Amino acid sequence: MKAPQGATIGRYLVRTRIAYFSMEIALRAEMHTYSGGLGVLAGDTARSAADLELPMVFVTLISRRGYLRQEIGRDGRQIAHDDPWDPTAFAVPLRVKVALPIGGREVWIRPWLYELHGALQHRVPVLLLDTDLAENDPADRSITDNLYGQGDSYRLQQEIVLGIGGIRVLQALGFTIQTYHMNEGHAALLSLDLLRRNALPTDETQAGGLRYAVGPVRDRCVFTTHTPVEAGHDRFSYDLVSKLLGDYIDIDQLKLLAGPDHMNMTHVALKLSGYVNGVANRHAETTTRMFPGYRVRSITNGIHLPTWAHLSFAKLFSRHFPSWGFDPEMMVRADQLPDEDVWQAHQSAKSDLITTVMARTHVKLSPDLPILGFARRMTSYKRPDLLFSDLARLASVSEQHPFQVVFAGKAHPADGPGRQIIQDIHRSIEQLKGRINVVFLPGYNMDLAKVLVSGIDVWLNTPVPPMEASGTSGMKAALNGGLNLSVLDGWWVEAWIEGVTGWAIGDDHADHVPTAAALYDKLGTTVLPLYYRDRARWIWMMKQSISKVATYFNTQRMMRRYVVDAYVAAGLK
Ligand SMILES: *Cc1c(COP(=O)(O)O)cnc(C)c1O
Repeated sequence: MKAPQGATIGRYLVRTRIAYFSMEIALRAEMHTYSGGLGVLAGDTARSAADLELPMVFVTLISRRGYLRQEIGRDGRQIAHDDPWDPTAFAVPLRVKVALPIGGREVWIRPWLYELHGALQHRVPVLLLDTDLAENDPADRSITDNLYGQGDSYRLQQEIVLGIGGIRVLQALGFTIQTYHMNEGHAALLSLDLLRRNALPTDETQAGGLRYAVGPVRDRCVFTTHTPVEAGHDRFSYDLVSKLLGDYIDIDQLKLLAGPDHMNMTHVALKLSGYVNGVANRHAETTTRMFPGYRVRSITNGIHLPTWAHLSFAKLFSRHFPSWGFDPEMMVRADQLPDEDVWQAHQSAKSDLITTVMARTHVKLSPDLPILGFARRMTSYKRPDLLFSDLARLASVSEQHPFQVVFAGKAHPADGPGRQIIQDIHRSIEQLKGRINVVFLPGYNMDLAKVLVSGIDVWLNTPVPPMEASGTSGMKAALNGGLNLSVLDGWWVEAWIEGVTGWAIGDDHADHVPTAAALYDKLGTTVLPLYYRDRARWIWMMKQSISKVATYFNTQRMMRRYVVDAYVAAGLK
């Protein structure tokens, strides 16, 4: 134990007013408390909250065995391992414990404290909830082990610990929270716990038969939804809910909030939040169509710039805009940076990527050929293998204008099609040998993401619209002078200026799914020729991309918007 624990948490109790709950938060690569984009966003949110000195506390699970450590077998198949990490190296266990009945047993929860340091003197506390305690039944000790572990029952137990456990831990520690922010529906049970404290007198009911007052709960809850993909919205059978939660809440009452057939966590959060947010303009429109009757606002996602700028770019930015990390608006003049400096910073980041590829795959990429990058969760709607739809066509594009490709990404172990895509990509890599250098880097995480997004020349994004709610890796690429070649979906709808910040694949119709032909066309006739024939124009685009994307698509702006539009305005209602 590193510090006197009471004192450690004590300094946060007086000032903190906002609690942000997320199933995953990417705090640092060595802490395996995240799986992908949702967690990285939560981490960047916390980093900006610390920089902006916001009165926030973050609550998540400790995920002792992580999400998954990815190994690729000889046949190109993903082999998933546990990915344990050591909480004692980064966090301190607090003395407080709370107990919750889950499945008829008392389950004890202990929070660990991780302190996140901002750019100035400020820190924000992150609480990591842990059930691995001697007083728990062996089965319950593992509830907080595996992030997104298998099975509905396990998942619901985790969400009970996060939502209900989290709110009670905050209370037991002595926090006075005004506003609760649910990052995705996983945390929705916290709003249900608040609702239970607002029972109406027995002779009163609200319209529809609810015996609780919703208004005071809605005044305190903010909900951000992150996906238009149906499977992304957790649903649990009422049998399971009864089994795990017992008489915590009357099931007929719960059905009024959560839907007649299943407990849908998104419905709970929508009903009990006074401010509902989609993560990009297009996503807010899609969410409104999916869940009619709710007002869905949009504060578009961002990234924490200092976290995602390669050192060579960070130095360049610091020379010209000393406060860029804190005041990203300063980077509006990045379009005036000297060409030579921008190209050198890029080549230095590219050389780091080439070194990483060499070390991990023994493939030697060239600094003189453009590198295309694609790294994200391997799942069907993102179409990671679209580039390989027609290998002959791809090879002929590359004969005209040679290029190289770097891939990375994990598939959720229960996502069969996602795992198949990884295997298919490896088969395509074999088939293209000698014609195009394509590599797959196993173990996509924050550290690898940084090397990738800063080292590539072109960042590829090929989702089926409107499934990509926002996407943030393209923002990271743009900050480092990478040019986006992307389907018009999510954040890119807002950032795209054709031939200026990057390029679109296909046209701007949300219901139109761009084909591989559209990708090959744009690549072969526009993107690659520009790289080889007009380097000055390419660098001009890099600078346009930095100045137009980084100034807006950052978590400083995002959090200032959340504070004014969601936290303060919602709290004042
Ligand atoms: C940024 C990031 C993501 C999110 O990328 P998307 O473009 O939203 O798919 C996922 N995983 C890691 C490790 C990241 O750094």
